Amino acid sequence: MSKEDYYEVLGVSREASDQELKSAYRKQALKYHPDRNPGDHAAEEKFKTASEAYQVLSDADKRAAYDRYGHAGLGGQGFGAGPFAGGVDIGDIFGDLFGEMFSMGGNAQRGSRQQRGDDLRFDLTIDFEDAFFGTETEVKIRRLETCPTCKGRGSASGQGPTTCTQCHGRGQIRYQQGFFSVARACGACGGTGQVIGDPCQTCRGETRAASELKLTVKVPPGVEDGTRIRYAGEGDAGRAGGPRGDLYVVLSIRPHDFYEREGYNLHCVIPISFPQAALGAEFEVPGIDGPVNLKIPEGTQSGREIRVRGRGVPFLNDKGHGDLIVKVMVQIPKKLSRTQRELVNKLAESLTVDNIPTSPGLLEKMKDLFT
Ligand SMILES: [Zn+2]
Ligand SMILES: [Zn+2]
Repeated sequence: MSKEDYYEVLGVSREASDQELKSAYRKQALKYHPDRNPGDHAAEEKFKTASEAYQVLSDADKRAAYDRYGHAGLGGQGFGAGPFAGGVDIGDIFGDLFGEMFSMGGNAQRGSRQQRGDDLRFDLTIDFEDAFFGTETEVKIRRLETCPTCKGRGSASGQGPTTCTQCHGRGQIRYQQGFFSVARACGACGGTGQVIGDPCQTCRGETRAASELKLTVKVPPGVEDGTRIRYAGEGDAGRAGGPRGDLYVVLSIRPHDFYEREGYNLHCVIPISFPQAALGAEFEVPGIDGPVNLKIPEGTQSGREIRVRGRGVPFLNDKGHGDLIVKVMVQIPKKLSRTQRELVNKLAESLTVDNIPTSPGLLEKMKDLFT
């Protein structure tokens, strides 16, 4: 079986620098590391091949020999056999490469069964008005509490945990993987180094049991869709007496029939008649916190936005409000009575508009002039 080209294995060019080689190898090693792909032999093979390629290409002498003679240039030593005597400090690479990965498993520190409880998320949907004024609501949350039967010890007799015989309390099993000694969390004790011989009937040795919490959630005025309210220490109880996780209440806000929010501003669209637009008008619109007096200036163009200061959403944890922004749309009647038609005809005789095309950009500029 012919061996794969080492450069192709790492996906780099033949001119790759040491740094490029290293980062290409890191990428492959992270992807195919046996700890990340348990039982996947194809991944294990790829991991071995990538390691072998890096061993050779990161050594200047070996790389030169490989470049000139290919695999034959390496003297057919066979990399699986015998201790590797190259100049690469594998520990150096793997220290920073896998140090983080091993701790990502979520296992407790060796020798300790204690573990922080999980953070919990509770999704709460509130009305548009509740986000404006603030509200208080009681919610029920399922979470894990320290088991009342065994008081968190996990064992029925109260004897507590004993040292795991599989890993002798180390929490890790080491095995040989190609050139490397690889550590894996012990399956018998879940990496804690300790096991429960006589598990508690209630929690089966888990030390915690499900329970329901009634919590009053205080929603302050001004919250936005997606606001997270954190309740420190109200998440799941920790395992074996570890600290509690946190609880996050995540708010989603129901839409309003005609108001839309943009930050702390409220937006709405209101139809007005042609006479109101031409002559100006004043009337009330229903705001969230009471009627809002709206003044339409004389000669208002359709699409104009009228800003009412301080009638938007209250600032979260601060004084003041955003603005209410009303977009007025001039309605053109689709049907006219005979009298109306006569009146519009009269108006038409005295109103003249030059029906000359302008570019959309120019129209925008003209709008700015009017507002
Ligand atoms: Zn228990
Ligand atoms: Zn163990």
